[in-house]
Amino acid sequence: MRWKKWLMLIVSLIVLTAAIGCSSKQPQMYEFNDDRFIMDTLVHVRVISEDKLLGEEALETVFDVFENIHSLADRFAHDDTSDVTRINMQAGKKPVQVSDETLSMINRAQYFAGITGGAFDVTVGPLVDIWGFGQEHRVPLEDELEAVLPLVDYQQVEFDIESRAVFLPRAGMQLDLGGVAKGYATDMAVERLREMGIKHAMINAGGNVYAVGAKPDGSPWRVGIIDPRHDGGIIAVLNVKDQAVVSSGDYQRYFVQDGKRYHHIINPATGQPAHEMMQTTVVFDNATDADILSTALFVLGRDKGVEFAIRHGEMDVLFVTTEGEICYTGAMAGYVEFTGEGNYRILKDISL
Ligand code: AMP
Ligand code: MG
Repeated sequence: MRWKKWLMLIVSLIVLTAAIGCSSKQPQMYEFNDDRFIMDTLVHVRVISEDKLLGEEALETVFDVFENIHSLADRFAHDDTSDVTRINMQAGKKPVQVSDETLSMINRAQYFAGITGGAFDVTVGPLVDIWGFGQEHRVPLEDELEAVLPLVDYQQVEFDIESRAVFLPRAGMQLDLGGVAKGYATDMAVERLREMGIKHAMINAGGNVYAVGAKPDGSPWRVGIIDPRHDGGIIAVLNVKDQAVVSSGDYQRYFVQDGKRYHHIINPATGQPAHEMMQTTVVFDNATDADILSTALFVLGRDKGVEFAIRHGEMDVLFVTTEGEICYTGAMAGYVEFTGEGNYRILKDISL
């Protein structure tokens, strides 16, 4: 029975070494969580750090960044801190000098407006207003839509990077950065977290998610994709590291009239809420582009959206159409898990 003793000794030694190895490699980690309502949405931040002070500071930093971007992009500010309010007030009058942040958002938005044929359009403000998103919801009359459609045209926006001037040449034009500001704030916050030395964090600003690094054990963050027709339901989980996962949906701001759903993502060409999608999710290396694209692809609809996603192959997409189909790009197959919840037909990946 001597060999048994030896075996026990060897096993104990292995376990002990592993334990020592673990404790020296993995210091005690602390988790910090908080939610705040900013930019009309719940911003949820989760930071994991071995340094308690740093972790708490990191949470505050993220919220500060969101408050700052909100104050610049707010369309209904009561003072002159908001670039967007100032630009809109001077529409048809004179150019307005704006912050670097506002200029970056407009610049990026204009780039994607160009390559999506205007599906993404930051001058959509008058349409958002006429449907009452932000105020009292209502279905506008045909005449009212006809009257505001000429004011919606990203090509008319004049902006100059050098002088940081932005000008809406027609009175009544209204800039609306609602489709990009949350993603941009997310990227700014992630940059600050990285500068602070934070290695594990997750930000979720109303469906604009960024996963910083991996979890402390090296496994990916798990991002739930919500069921567009069932509150609290999750249709899929994406396992990601250092990536943005941004969803747009017809369930975020909407109203139902005479059995028909009207929501906040407007097709600038028709003035009507885009009707082919329930939800679009874009996975990309930055949240600004992913935010713009999730909105733009929602407007483009399934076929054009799929074509765009394949042509610009560096991103992955997952669409839930109003026909109840789920389709996704091929590379996502490596990190998506479907929960089977909801009554959707999952189509084969769309890039094959
Ligand atoms: P998101 O939640 O990122 O999809 O953005 C939707 C928000 O963007 C809306 O609440 C509007 O403020 C704005 N928006 C709506 N339609 C468009 C559009 N076609 N292009 C750009 N922004 C839009
Ligand atoms: Mg967006």
